[in-house]
Amino acid sequence: MPLPTAENASPAMAQWFDLKHQEPDALLFFRMGDFYELFFSDAQAAAMALDIALTARGTHQGEPIPMCGVPVAAAPAYLSRLIRRGFRVAVAEQTQTPPKKGEKPQKGPLSRAIVRVVTPGTLTEDELLEAGRANLLLAIARSPEKRAKTVGAAWIDISTGAFETASVPEPALPELMARLDAAEILSEPDLIPPDYASRLAPVAVPPTLDSARTLVARAYGVAQIDALGDFPPEQAIACAMALNYVQRSQAGALPRLSRPIPQGTDGVLGIDPATRASLDILRTRDGETKHSLLGAVTRTATAAGSRLLAQWLASPLTDATAITDRQNGWLWLQSIPGLSGALGDILRRTPDPARALGRISAGRGQPRDLAAIRDTLIAANDITALFQPACDQNTPTLIRTLTAGLYGRADTLLEQLQAAVAETLPARIEDGGFIAPGYNTELDRYRGLRDESRRIIAAMQGELSEKFGVSNLKIKHHAQLGYVIEVPSAAGTKLRDNPELSFRQGTASLARFSTEELAGLDRAILEAADKAATLERRIFAELCARILQTPALDDVAEFLALADVLRSCGLLAEGGSWCRPTVTDGTEFSLVACRHPVVEAALAESGSADARFIPNDCALPPEHRAMLLTGPNMAGKSTFLRQTALAVILAQAGLPVPAKSAQIGVVDRLFSRVGGADDLARGRSTFMVEMTETAAILNQAGPKSLVVVDEIGRGTATLDGLSIAWATLEALHTQLGSRTIFATHFHELGALTEFLPRLAPYTMAVKEWRGEVIFQHEVRPGAARKSWGLHVAKLAGIPASVVNRASRLLSQFEREQAEARSSLPLFEAVTEPEIPPAPEPAAPPIPTPLEDAIRALNPDDLSPRDALDALYELKRLA
Ligand code: ADP
Repeated sequence: MPLPTAENASPAMAQWFDLKHQEPDALLFFRMGDFYELFFSDAQAAAMALDIALTARGTHQGEPIPMCGVPVAAAPAYLSRLIRRGFRVAVAEQTQTPPKKGEKPQKGPLSRAIVRVVTPGTLTEDELLEAGRANLLLAIARSPEKRAKTVGAAWIDISTGAFETASVPEPALPELMARLDAAEILSEPDLIPPDYASRLAPVAVPPTLDSARTLVARAYGVAQIDALGDFPPEQAIACAMALNYVQRSQAGALPRLSRPIPQGTDGVLGIDPATRASLDILRTRDGETKHSLLGAVTRTATAAGSRLLAQWLASPLTDATAITDRQNGWLWLQSIPGLSGALGDILRRTPDPARALGRISAGRGQPRDLAAIRDTLIAANDITALFQPACDQNTPTLIRTLTAGLYGRADTLLEQLQAAVAETLPARIEDGGFIAPGYNTELDRYRGLRDESRRIIAAMQGELSEKFGVSNLKIKHHAQLGYVIEVPSAAGTKLRDNPELSFRQGTASLARFSTEELAGLDRAILEAADKAATLERRIFAELCARILQTPALDDVAEFLALADVLRSCGLLAEGGSWCRPTVTDGTEFSLVACRHPVVEAALAESGSADARFIPNDCALPPEHRAMLLTGPNMAGKSTFLRQTALAVILAQAGLPVPAKSAQIGVVDRLFSRVGGADDLARGRSTFMVEMTETAAILNQAGPKSLVVVDEIGRGTATLDGLSIAWATLEALHTQLGSRTIFATHFHELGALTEFLPRLAPYTMAVKEWRGEVIFQHEVRPGAARKSWGLHVAKLAGIPASVVNRASRLLSQFEREQAEARSSLPLFEAVTEPEIPPAPEPAAPPIPTPLEDAIRALNPDDLSPRDALDALYELKRLA
């Protein structure tokens, strides 16, 4: 329903229209007392999305106004559902307090203002965030120099304040976007791959370079953006877009953000989007973490640790020294008895400081966020106390940096928080009572006054009851009247004329009175409570300001996460079935007894006795850097390919590898094409997708790359496919010189091992036993001798008659192909082998019923009588 005009709107509705026009793309949560209310099309959309009642309130231009509402107390849950469904929500609060009792009533509606726009990329509340995952807002901008095909990216995690930038050539943007996996994107739509369209924020045009530079400089209070670092134009524009959007979402206030930190894409393992999709690094295709690589390797104890580990896995390194530094870190932790366990105990008590800081800086801090900062600093000190005695000059650099980074960084702040924060905390500031007694004498005095008055009141009940001779006289607190004396109505009539009592209210069953003293005490309590609340809020604001002025907290948060990740790595390595890989700058590649961590875990979980994961070696030495892997489907080819790629990711992220030993010369780019490329939904044929992805490899792979591909060429006619697979493998082997594992069902490719000196044939071991196939999941040197497709078909439950028919067709095709080949000059040129132009074999004729009947006969099984019957039957069919 289109929004009507604001003409003739009631004063409250006029205010609504006003606010709605400020954020037309968001649903407007309009605060009305204890509810957020939505109107018109917003109400219709939200009622549908949240499955709540749509009603109407009042009329506008003679029509009822559609309305729905959510209670303020339950708003986070509703917000979270709306955000997940792709809505943005503008929250309008009352910016004026309603008049108190006894005050002049307000004329017209209370004033309201949008205090925040909640969008997927600008969340800070724990309820709305996934604890173990970064929540990024990503801005992308073209370089203003028309010919430079460079794009700038700037991404912010507002929940932690992290802010980073990069420039990449336009074709490399999808790779960066896949790595970041941002929750919300600011970009011109034509710049990004269509898959990301649903994450686009409705955004204004990118600013000019000059205004971008000014905006960024102003946001950080510096005269020139250059004071923050050397940002190329496209990055400056992207930074400005991101900052501007964050500012708008927080109603003008900019929360605490780090300075933008340029992240080169150098030093990071190149993983293109197709590879990422095929490897389920952080999430599987259906979005869950448990069966991803991250799920299989994480042993972290904190949400911040889990986010850092995800970041390590999403962007493994290419610098062997940096990788070794990480390894030394976790090896050290494991080498000192009891250290990892004690560290775990501390970490489990550590809250999520980065996100607490994010909320405090966004002005949405709560008492528990103060406690979170306090407990973080305590944990940091506990960790240094644990590490320091174990440190000497041989301790790895990373551990020494970490220990120094945690030690006593904010001790005065800690002391202050320890003194200030009460032991038990209310959920919200409004509930009060979160500042500890003894911290502020004025606060103590107000609280004392309040409590003293309450005590006097409590004591009064007995006295008054006796004085007025009413045994069931009570003193109660009433929402509107404050403290009152309550007596049954019969006694009330009697007391009505008592000059000491002033009558306040009567009902059928009781009467309420007050005395001068009681009224005085009530006022005193109110006043004291009011003053205490105001003071508590002021102290809270001061503490928050102190916290935000303590930059060391960022380091502390970062180092705690690092300690957690190192410990997590150490725990993985602990069982002995994971090893520390040797990572070098060479091109060696050897995995001994390597496993697929996710498949292995799934097999172990299945609990079946024969469900044991079979480890496999993978050697790609320079003299045999390409492996041709044949073998039937279901034999374990894809698992082998993926586990090899995953081992590289783990090793270069600095983690242990699931193998007996591993030697890896740093891989600069990783390409994995394993598993179905089902892009049909995007309107591209499977074959087109496959070829696009193959092209990406051939255009980018080099001698330091690792390529693992499965079944290239399967999406087209056999000979087309074979030719493409053949040429691709040749290019990888000869021109690009990449370390390669090439899995294929084209047995014909086996011939290539004769022509390509660095190509070694391997096959998946399969046993045939009493006519059944047994997959041994073992990779052995050699080529597959036969295809097992028909056996797999049988396993899958294809009817026996169809399998038998296929089997006969197969024999015939094979015979015909062999004859055709023997008459053709095969594989002439060694350097440029030609594809044999084998003709497509013609399908053999369908057998006649007579032939079928003859084939179905098995003379050995027939009795003389059956044989005679069969003879008559054949005679009949002839
Ligand atoms: P392919 O790619 O050859 O069709 P997959 O790699 O998909 O085969 O493996 C098929 C199934 O075999 C997997 O789902 C897994 O359960 C099992 N499998 C694969 N490799 C192994 C292994 N090394 N040890 C044990 N089971 C394995």
